[in-house]
Amino acid sequence: MKYEIKALDKKAKSATMETVHGTVETPLFMNVGTVAAIKGAVSTDDLKEIGCQVELSNTYHLHVRTGDKLIKEFGGLHEFMHWDRPILTDSGGFQVFSLAKLRKIKEEGVNFNSHIDGRKIFMGPEESMQIQSNLGSTIAMAFDECPPALAERKYIEASVARTTRWLQRCKTEMDRLNSLEDTVNKEQLLFAINQGGIIDDIRISHAKEISEMDLDGYAIGGLAVGESHDEMYHILDVTVEHLPQNKPTYLMGVGTPINILEAVERGVDFFDCVYPSRNGRHGHVYTNHGKLNLFNKKFELDKRPIEEGCNCPACRSYSRGYIRHLLKANEMLGMRLCVLHNLYFYNTMMSEIRTAIREGRYTEYKNNKIRTMLEG
Ligand SMILES: [Zn+2]
Repeated sequence: MKYEIKALDKKAKSATMETVHGTVETPLFMNVGTVAAIKGAVSTDDLKEIGCQVELSNTYHLHVRTGDKLIKEFGGLHEFMHWDRPILTDSGGFQVFSLAKLRKIKEEGVNFNSHIDGRKIFMGPEESMQIQSNLGSTIAMAFDECPPALAERKYIEASVARTTRWLQRCKTEMDRLNSLEDTVNKEQLLFAINQGGIIDDIRISHAKEISEMDLDGYAIGGLAVGESHDEMYHILDVTVEHLPQNKPTYLMGVGTPINILEAVERGVDFFDCVYPSRNGRHGHVYTNHGKLNLFNKKFELDKRPIEEGCNCPACRSYSRGYIRHLLKANEMLGMRLCVLHNLYFYNTMMSEIRTAIREGRYTEYKNNKIRTMLEG
């Protein structure tokens, strides 16, 4: 893996990252395909057409349904879902802590019941690495605990200390797996995750500690889980500077276009979020002049595309009025067109962000973009 910063505009960074699955340009938005599919009937061929650089799949979901061993039989996720560009898999930790039933955390890992069929499963750092190795993703995420945003200091301290011990175990296991003969991707990368709720000094000391462990990239987890936007920006202000600048900086699960614009300014260059696909499935579409709800009656006779000048597959051919009709008739094509537009909107915004950073006018770009989005 080669990560090279191409431009810095104050703290905003734009880099290239070379991987075994090709080179990507940052800042970038990873398009979320939970169970190796983008919800809304969007295929990997579609992803290429809408400018997706990295696809993200969920380890927990693929492990409990269909199974990572079966996917390994196909030659890993890339072969399984017909995608030759980078894939990031999360560690499963977030879903274990948010979805699974009757979980019990121990030093070794977590015992939980599958939310699909109730079956008992154990997942610790080693199991998470083994599953992600079977999936053969380009980037694996470390297995961590995401403590509740409002947990007490004592709980967060103990949890973060365990996350650090788990990170060491993830690293050791990943090195072992990458050395095995039948491993799908022997150059699988491992990103660490910074935790610490919204407590500055825990975030900072954890960031320093994991930075010394020399991982391939660094994520900030446990944000966008109920704290305010200002609290999130503040944590980025105090934390990012303690993570290595010469490695990818990933803000997990964030967020709205404005959240992304603010985080880029604070030095983040990897993002993922379910908003564009989830909102699209509900007929909510992003534009440079704010979000529209296509279910609204005022679009009934609207012959314009979702956004004038947008080059996505929906806007190239279809009117707001037609897409509204599809949504009202519960036709899958309505959802699909909205999801394609929204992902194209996010991917295009990331491309504009990269250009603005490389031309040294990021602040001006950001301020204009936010102003037009808020003015509507
Ligand atoms: Zn469009």
